[in-house]
Amino acid sequence: MPLTDKFGRAITDLRISITDRCNYKCIYCRTGNDGAIYGDLPFPEYLRMARVLCGMGISKVRITGGEPLLRKGVIDFVRSLAELRNTQGEPLDLAVTTNGDLLAEMAQPLKDAGLNRVTVSMDAVDPDRFARITRVANGYHNVLAGIRAARSAGLWPIKVNCVLMRGFNEDQIIPFAMFAREEGVVVRFIEFMPLEEERVWAPDTVVPLDEIVARINEYRRLVEIPHQRSETARRYRFEDGIGEMGIIAPVSHPFCGRCSRIRITSDGKIRTCLFSAWDHDLYGQMQRGASDAELSAFIRDVVQRKEERHHIGEPDFVPASRTMVHIGG
Ligand code: SAM
Repeated sequence: MPLTDKFGRAITDLRISITDRCNYKCIYCRTGNDGAIYGDLPFPEYLRMARVLCGMGISKVRITGGEPLLRKGVIDFVRSLAELRNTQGEPLDLAVTTNGDLLAEMAQPLKDAGLNRVTVSMDAVDPDRFARITRVANGYHNVLAGIRAARSAGLWPIKVNCVLMRGFNEDQIIPFAMFAREEGVVVRFIEFMPLEEERVWAPDTVVPLDEIVARINEYRRLVEIPHQRSETARRYRFEDGIGEMGIIAPVSHPFCGRCSRIRITSDGKIRTCLFSAWDHDLYGQMQRGASDAELSAFIRDVVQRKEERHHIGEPDFVPASRTMVHIGG
C-alpha cells in the first residue's frame, strides 16, 4: 500500500539530516554564533529508518544537514543506502545537499559509493560577497572546486541553489545566469523563507519568481520547460539552448498541493512539513524496542497528519518549531 496522506499526496521523497552542525553561518539560515545543536545518531539508526521507509514507498533519499559532509562515515552511509531498494525492487535515487566546502575531495568517493546527484548551495559568484553571506572567509574557491570535482566525478546533474535575499544578493541573478551557462550546472534560485535563526524574514526580503524571471529575460530570453508534477522548481532554458535555470518559489507560488516529502531530523524525529509546529519521535519508538512493523504503523499514522500547506505571509502564520539548519533542507 503506497504511503499517502489524508489529502491523497503520495510520499516518495525522504530527506535525512545526519547532523545539525554546520561550518558555514549563512545569514538567511543561521546566527553568527555557534548556536545550540540537537545532536545526531549513529548511522545504523538512520539506515534502519530509511530501510523501513523504502519498504513503504520512498524512492528518493537526500542526505542533508547541517552540513552532511562534516560527518565522518558519510561515504559508508551512502554505500549502505545504495544497497537499499524501493518497492519496485529498483535502486534509490540518492542525492546530497551540501555547502560544497569539502566536496572537492569527497565527490569521487561519494560517486564510487553510489551517490547519483549533488546539490550545492552557493549564494554569490563573487568571493567577497560569498564571504559576507556565509560569514566564512575563503570558502568561495573551495565550493567552486567542489562543483567542478562533482562534474568530473559524474555526479549529474549538478544543481546549484542560491537563496535570494533582497539587499544582499539580488544583484547576483545575472552573474548566476552566466555561471549556469559557463559551468554547465543548473542554477536554482530559492525564495527566502521564514526558517532562519535570526528572524529577519519579512515579505519584502523575498525576491519573488516573477521578478527573477523578468531580470533574467533582460539578459537573455528564457523558455519555460514543462515540469513534472512532483518537481518543486519551475524550470527554464535559454532560448539558444545553452544553460538551465530553476526557480523554487514556495512563497509566491506555493507547491504544497504537490508535496511528496517527509524529513528525518538529525536526532531522529519525523517532520511532515518544513513549517510543522511539532515533530514525531521516530527514534524514540526505536529506543522503546519497536519492531519494523510497529515503525511502519507509526510512520503511516504520522504521514496521515501531514499539514495541508504552509501559511507564510498570512496573518495566522506561526514560525516552525525548528529553524532550517535543525530540520535539514
Ligand atoms: N549545509 C547544506 C547546504 O548548505 O546546502 C545542507 C543544509 S542547508 C539547511 C539546505 C538548503 O536550505 C540550502 O540550499 C540552503 O540554501 C537552504 N536554506 C537555508 N535557510 C533557508 C531559508 N531561510 N530560506 C530558503 N532556503 C533556505
